[in-house]
Amino acid sequence: MFQYSEQNILDIFKNQDENDFQRLLDTANHYRIKNLGNTVYLRGLIEYSNYCDRNCFYCGIRNDNKKIQRYRLSSEEIIAIAMEAYKQGYHSLAIQGGEFEDQREVDYMAGVVSKIKDLSGASSYGSMGITLSIGELSYQQYLKLWEAGAHRYLLRIESSDEALFKKIHPPSQSYHKRLDCLEALKDIGFQVGTGVMIGLPGQNYEHLVQDLRFFMERDIDMLGMGPYIAHPATPLFKRKKKSNDIDPYTSSIKMMALARLLMPDINMVASTAIQSLHSDGLKLALRAGANIVMPVLTPEACRSDYNLYTNKEYKSLEKLSGEIISSGLQLNYWKWGDSLHYYRRKGLSYPVNI
Ligand code: SF4
Repeated sequence: MFQYSEQNILDIFKNQDENDFQRLLDTANHYRIKNLGNTVYLRGLIEYSNYCDRNCFYCGIRNDNKKIQRYRLSSEEIIAIAMEAYKQGYHSLAIQGGEFEDQREVDYMAGVVSKIKDLSGASSYGSMGITLSIGELSYQQYLKLWEAGAHRYLLRIESSDEALFKKIHPPSQSYHKRLDCLEALKDIGFQVGTGVMIGLPGQNYEHLVQDLRFFMERDIDMLGMGPYIAHPATPLFKRKKKSNDIDPYTSSIKMMALARLLMPDINMVASTAIQSLHSDGLKLALRAGANIVMPVLTPEACRSDYNLYTNKEYKSLEKLSGEIISSGLQLNYWKWGDSLHYYRRKGLSYPVNI
């Protein structure tokens, strides 16, 4: 791994020295600027539905949580949000929702994607780039969404360690199925993103080193990861804190910085979770090499019902923009901001005009 051995990386996670931490962030920031420039790209996040057929032990919108109000935006509502965002300079969206088994839901989403592509494609800046994050589907279902016009997909592994994965998911959810999905997405041609939660009960630094190795071996194009934040309506919430639990915040920032050093040309998100955990979360995530921000565009009336975790922070585009500029970076409107790594691994030239 890079110039670091796995032992070096473990030492970085365990090291409490503040000066060394600041040096790590400076190096990661330098790497991002050298490889990707000082640009940060936008993904307008639409959390279109909180219905979910699954029961992940950490997630607030799991099927067994009967205390939340379920919602699903109509296709007209999603398209209206998308086109309003387009007018404001968003050229990429991330559409996210719970997981489902019903083919009609795939058809519905394919219709939404296709319509947004058509409407935005007729405008002067060209069509909206679309990332989907709607969970595990079949090869044919992913293909349908690709053919509708989505070209990026985020499917987090949550932990690359199979034993830990099993501890945070019910037996009906398979680690190997998730690996197969990641392969299917890559085979179809998507820019593929994955990620993990940091600070999970039972997780240690060795797991995080394994996660970094997993991202590299899988040759991923995008990374979306952040701290584990417990939600009271979940089975994991009941698990008592232990003295050797890892610190989710600092470890997340270190994880991002290390990911930037090891994978200099991938896209990496400054997650909402990291911004929710600490007021300096965005600034540190940017210094650690994040080059994507995802302002939430979900209608305000639905936001409190899309609680994957508690105390979620919502920042306006203006506030995000101010923090990005004060970090010495530039927020780029009207660009897809695709993953450079994707084009390199496919042997294609990077499109400068989208
Ligand atoms: S993490 Fe995703 S698949 Fe799991 S319960 Fe939450 S929304 Fe459903």
